Amino acid sequence: MDLLKEKIRTEGLALSEEVLKVDSFLNHQIDPLLMTEMGKAFAAYFNKGKKITKVLTIESSGIAVGLTTALELGVPLVFARKKKSLTMSNDLFVSKVYSFTKQEENEITVSKRFISPDDHILLIDDFLAHGEAALGLASIVEQAGATVAGIGIVIEKSFQAGNEKLTKAGYDVYSLARIKSLQQGKVEFLEEELVYE
Ligand code: 5GP
Repeated sequence: MDLLKEKIRTEGLALSEEVLKVDSFLNHQIDPLLMTEMGKAFAAYFNKGKKITKVLTIESSGIAVGLTTALELGVPLVFARKKKSLTMSNDLFVSKVYSFTKQEENEITVSKRFISPDDHILLIDDFLAHGEAALGLASIVEQAGATVAGIGIVIEKSFQAGNEKLTKAGYDVYSLARIKSLQQGKVEFLEEELVYE
């Protein structure tokens, strides 16, 4: 997606060879026009065949793009919480998510009221690195007996294992920008394979 790639090129900051900072349009300040365009792109890709009934993301950075996607699809958005409410744990689906960037394991939770077995759920997240967050969301959908319709990612770091892990697990993964490398402070995108006839 050209608009997103342009934003990453001009405003993204490679903090290391592993971590990209994009807090001027995605992770702190949010660009509403970009969110709208990304919502349209996810809806156009996934809204074929299976009818999506809900979008599921994780707080907080997935919410903006999750919302524009849900708006475009005409379905509700649910976001998994990172902090568990102690009072109602029986009513929650819980999954453990290991963060390689923070080197810690966290639980994410979703109320059982908001996912039912007949749901077809599109998962959306801001980054794909090692696939832990997406697998945590998928586990919640599966605990509910519902179906994962696909996984939409804003920025995939293709040099990490996430895409391969999710694809091998059978999920349809669609990333709007795919980064090949962050070496020497430079963002290099993975270009689509050129097909010669
Ligand atoms: P994964 O679970 O795929 O290993 O990592 C994805 C999660 O970690 C995302 O939800 C995102 O919050 C965070 N994350 C991973 N890599 C980056 C990165 O390079 N930049 C930012 N801002 N967040 C990242």
